[in-house]
Amino acid sequence: MKKREIDKQTQAAERVQNSMKHAPNAAAKIGIDLGTANLLVYVDGEGIVFNEPSVIAFDYYTGEVLAVGNNAQKMIGRNHKGIKIVSPLQQGVISDMEAAKKLIELAIRKAENTDINLEKSTCLICCPSEVTQIERDSMVELAKKLGVPDVFIEEEVKAGGIGAGLDIYGSNGSMVIDMGGGTTDIGVLSLGDIVVSESIRIAGNYFDNEIINYVQYNHGLLIGKNTAKRIKEVIGTLRAQLPEDRTAFANGRDVLSGLPRRIELKQSEIRDVLKPLFVQIANTVLKALQGTPAELSADIIENGITLNGGCAKIDGADEFFNKQLGLDIKIAPNPLTAIVEGTRILLKNRGNYYVKPID
Ligand code: ADP
Ligand code: MG
Repeated sequence: MKKREIDKQTQAAERVQNSMKHAPNAAAKIGIDLGTANLLVYVDGEGIVFNEPSVIAFDYYTGEVLAVGNNAQKMIGRNHKGIKIVSPLQQGVISDMEAAKKLIELAIRKAENTDINLEKSTCLICCPSEVTQIERDSMVELAKKLGVPDVFIEEEVKAGGIGAGLDIYGSNGSMVIDMGGGTTDIGVLSLGDIVVSESIRIAGNYFDNEIINYVQYNHGLLIGKNTAKRIKEVIGTLRAQLPEDRTAFANGRDVLSGLPRRIELKQSEIRDVLKPLFVQIANTVLKALQGTPAELSADIIENGITLNGGCAKIDGADEFFNKQLGLDIKIAPNPLTAIVEGTRILLKNRGNYYVKPID
């Protein structure tokens, strides 16, 4: 990105910030899905106001924000030493509090309704089910730092189940597998809450790294993170039978000569990289199933399992889990936005588990 463009963006962000200082009026209900890969912000009455990668770029020397979201993501692997690029979450947990705060602040300010008064607002932040109390507290601390006094925390699996259209408030149990960027979280939901949960640190970023390793060792080519992510999204598959072995190009740097080179990767190669990782996820799901009370197991046989999170979009993920687990698998209609859509209902009910969602 050109320096001028960066300047323009920063100036625009500052203008919004300044206008906020002069028009702080409305209280808002804000739902935040701060994922390892993507940040989504929902504002009641406005809808989803931000849906971009959880990435922020700073000027290394002045600490000034240069870009957030998509623009910051594009800089990964392309930056010089004057730019520091931060993903404030690692494996579902905040690793850089200041960067997380700045990112959310700028995301909220992208809302059309710029006169949100954070001091009067309610904020729901979603967190992984398996995080410790300290990690949960850091989410509350984050909202407090933003100036929101009224904060509550809900589990992502729960919000995601609601957002995917499951009736989690009934006595009929359901299982959700959320495959995101940093972790895969598994939860059995009944009567509005999580009964059993498991988590494994194998998800999108791990898949990307394994693709990078595979390409390095088998094709002698170093590829970047964004390239690996694109390859996974475009030709990644888990189907046992491929109607045609499609290919995609990957550009990178030759390991030996150090020069730029392009190769063509086959779907079947990427499948062979992904498959053992998905077997490990399936084993974690089995562990969760083994810890599930009998009545709820019976419900899961009836209702099947819902796949959520961005990696639910990997071609053939449903077929793979169906074969491994022998249960019906449904892909959520909106795997990338389900959690933040669920916050809409949770903000209304405020964790009142037995209240049916009202539209
Ligand atoms: P998080 O909740 O951790 O932020 P998300 O649920 O937003 O993660 O999912 C992000 C992951 O989903 C990334 O690894 C991304 O590459 C992957 N993803 C997104 N869209 C697709 C797609 N169409 N096919 C395969 N993977 C996808
Ligand atoms: Mg997520």
